[in-house]
Amino acid sequence: MADDIVIMGAGPAGLAAGYELAKNNCKPMLFESQDQVGGISKTIKYRDFYFDLGGHRFFTKFNEVNNLWHEVLGADFIKVPRLSRIYYKNRYFNYPLTPLNALTGMGIFDTVKITSSYLYSKIFPYSREDTFEQWVSNRFGRKLYSMFFKTYTEKVWGIPCSQIQAEWAAQRIKGLSLKTAVLNAISRKNNNIKTLINEFDYPTHGPGMMYNRMKDKIEDMGGKVYINSRVDKINTEGSKIKSLEYIDKDGRRNIVEGRYFISSIPLTELIEKLSPTPDTAILNAASNLKYRSLITVDIIVGKQHLFPDNWIYIHSPDVKLGRIQNFKNWSSKMVPDENRTSLGLEYFCNENDELWNLTDDKLFELAADEIDKIRICNKKDIEDYIVIRVPKAYPVYMNGYKKNIGIIESFIRQFKNLQPVGRYGLFKYNNMDHSVLTGLYAAKNILEGTIKYDTWSVNTDKEYHEEKAN
Ligand SMILES: Cc1cc2nc3c(=O)[nH]c(=O)nc-3n(C[C@H](O)[C@H](O)[C@H](O)COP(=O)(O)OP(=O)(O)OC[C@H]3O[C@@H](n4cnc5c(N)ncnc54)[C@H](O)[C@@H]3O)c2cc1C
Repeated sequence: MADDIVIMGAGPAGLAAGYELAKNNCKPMLFESQDQVGGISKTIKYRDFYFDLGGHRFFTKFNEVNNLWHEVLGADFIKVPRLSRIYYKNRYFNYPLTPLNALTGMGIFDTVKITSSYLYSKIFPYSREDTFEQWVSNRFGRKLYSMFFKTYTEKVWGIPCSQIQAEWAAQRIKGLSLKTAVLNAISRKNNNIKTLINEFDYPTHGPGMMYNRMKDKIEDMGGKVYINSRVDKINTEGSKIKSLEYIDKDGRRNIVEGRYFISSIPLTELIEKLSPTPDTAILNAASNLKYRSLITVDIIVGKQHLFPDNWIYIHSPDVKLGRIQNFKNWSSKMVPDENRTSLGLEYFCNENDELWNLTDDKLFELAADEIDKIRICNKKDIEDYIVIRVPKAYPVYMNGYKKNIGIIESFIRQFKNLQPVGRYGLFKYNNMDHSVLTGLYAAKNILEGTIKYDTWSVNTDKEYHEEKAN
């Protein structure tokens, strides 16, 4: 059995591949640049409080992914009821949006506007549905679009909805329209809609628990996970990857040869690290792919109860704040003391923009002022905070991205012993289950000695359940 298997990145995708290989008597080597595994799905522990980077619901329609999660975590994987609402102009609205709630919450003036703009969009829809704006307006009407989709989506992506591909909406809002939402409100039996999941799984101590456990199991079975080990160079020869070079925590450069390579590091970084350097056309295609980043200002509040939701979407345009997580509502074990509450305040930004470059103190000041302003928490009750910056949190589906992916994909395919996996490794805006599935498939291909599953083609879109950015 092959032992010379090298996996780049130890997030959900890399770890799932490593776990499957180790279970089948291989001894994979995983290289992770950070000091802990889990990637975007890790959990940060601070003063015995556990902070998820965002909130990670575990949900999948794929049995192999579900089985793996349960096998790894057993009784520490709990069922969590879901409550999430939208905060807009001092009011809360159900999420997913139910028309009755939207209409009654709005007052007569806006209700008339919503209804007439919906009817207008049915009679005079946009003839093309190329952009997010066109896609959503055609289904909900322009008024609801501007209230419940535009502001939040633009906070997340930092670009006008007229520049976001309709494909993103089609993937994330699939199956939900005003008509289906009305039907759902009338009949709770209509649970085909991908967005309406009211229960999900969660590890008692956050998603990092799942992936730390996976790492331990890989090592128990003879694999090795090297943390603080940043892949810096990938040496190729003809149609093969020969070796990689990584920098360890002491700054030393090490070289590792391998027969099979799996990469979950961002596709753009993979291209940059190849040696010899790819042609300019490939480098340009990679540099045109963009990511959106995330800052979480995590606060500890000296209050037992603030609100019942797992998370709240902040649609109000007068604050930069995008979403708030209430971690004890995900699992009571996320906080060490029931008299306190920990919140994750999420800000979407670009790496190195004005917000990203604010000092932690300034970010905290902004977050404390904003949460006070929208009356969710009095800033005097905040006892402590940490700031976590998450670069490359979202692959951006900008106009033209598909062409660039196509160029890179055909180039990467020439390396017969390299399989890209995961959300960033394949540049697909998907959830953890997609990452785990592509990791499992890459491992199975190695074990079976043939490419039975093409990781580039794995798409979980059809089964998707979350229309909001995550
Ligand atoms: C705010 C937010 C909320 C989310 N909520 C959900 C949710 O509710 N449910 C859900 O299923 N999904 C959710 N997701 C998506 C989920 O986080 C990702 O799908 C998942 O983490 C992707 O796993 P991955 O292994 O593909 O990539 P990553 O998690 O990014 O892992 C890649 C790993 O590679 C490492 N790496 C990068 N470069 C190098 C290098 N040069 N050398 C070595 N290592 C390197 C990174 O440090 C990282 O550990 C959310 C994402 C965000 C941003």
